[in-house]
Amino acid sequence: MKILVVGGAGYVGSHCVRQMVAAGHQPVVVDNLVFGHRGALAPDIPFYRGNMEDESIITDILHQEQIEVVTHFAAFTYVGESVEDPLKYYLNNVAGTLHLLNAMKRTGVNKLVFSSSCTTFGIPDFLPIGETHKQVPISPYGQSKLDIETLLLSLAKVEDFRFAVLRYFNAAGAAEDGAIGEDHDPETHLIPLAIAAAMRKGKALKVFGADYPTPDGTCQRDYVHVDDLGRAHIAAMEKLKEPNTRLFLNLGVGKPYSVREVIDAVERVSGKKVPVVLAERRDGDPPTLFADPSLAKDVLGWEVKFNHLEDIVATAWKWHSTHPAGFDDKVDITRHKGTKAQRHKGGRGRT
Ligand code: UDP
Repeated sequence: MKILVVGGAGYVGSHCVRQMVAAGHQPVVVDNLVFGHRGALAPDIPFYRGNMEDESIITDILHQEQIEVVTHFAAFTYVGESVEDPLKYYLNNVAGTLHLLNAMKRTGVNKLVFSSSCTTFGIPDFLPIGETHKQVPISPYGQSKLDIETLLLSLAKVEDFRFAVLRYFNAAGAAEDGAIGEDHDPETHLIPLAIAAAMRKGKALKVFGADYPTPDGTCQRDYVHVDDLGRAHIAAMEKLKEPNTRLFLNLGVGKPYSVREVIDAVERVSGKKVPVVLAERRDGDPPTLFADPSLAKDVLGWEVKFNHLEDIVATAWKWHSTHPAGFDDKVDITRHKGTKAQRHKGGRGRT
């Protein structure tokens, strides 16, 4: 399939691009490179720098590249920042997506895989979290994802619009061959921060609360390997070939691991001590979150390859230990936004 990957230079998107290529598909990436990295994509991947809200650019690309399906990863994802600046999140995650959807409508592209999040559920009433759990997000970020979920269903009721909403739990790990990995700025996620602390790159790792009602007092999360998420996208795209496909699927391993267990895993994998300090609880952190992935298994035949936290951490360690500075493309590109669709292809296209 010819796939437009919106936000394809970001962490999850770039790993999915590699999975798509491995499965014989043809991804075309559009990314504004505000958070993504050109270096996360192989040079021969067709690449456009642009914003999803720029309907004329997206329309041109959908048309010129004869796109059949869109996978949409582009979003601001910092929960705390979304509380501080909700408008920024609604403008990007909601308004931006509306324009993307409008461009799809204008060009007759009717298949979408949308990256959603377990944050749409808010504080869980029961565990594991299946698709029937009520969705009451507690942050503007979570709400922005839920708003799009709701809209997609409305669209599918009135036209032949097919979608798969994939709600990730904690995306983690890196490509098995060590070629690409996680490089956020700022980094807020536990596994890369624990690895950075082990490498003595930064300060000691802050453990946000050790008095939760969990076996060791620290929060538990469901860490799912980024390549397993990629494989779910491939399977979901296949499903979209069937008319009336409307999928809402929770993607996690289905096992909770605590902050303490993550630190132990990083120490075992790296052979280094992770310096830690106990800190206050972080606002909005539920004690335990983990998925019931059985619907994704039934509908997509999705089985995770990475069942154990240590294996996931090992892939993250491989990337971070060999790329201590992350991707080496940290330039200010925000001043160089194009107004027309500009394809950057392996140095051969227009730049
Ligand atoms: N966490 C922590 N110290 C950090 C970052 C995260 O103790 O520096 C904890 C956080 O409170 C949560 C878990 O690690 O319980 C996973 O956090 P992360 O930000 O990686 O993902 P989230 O679950 O918030 O999406």
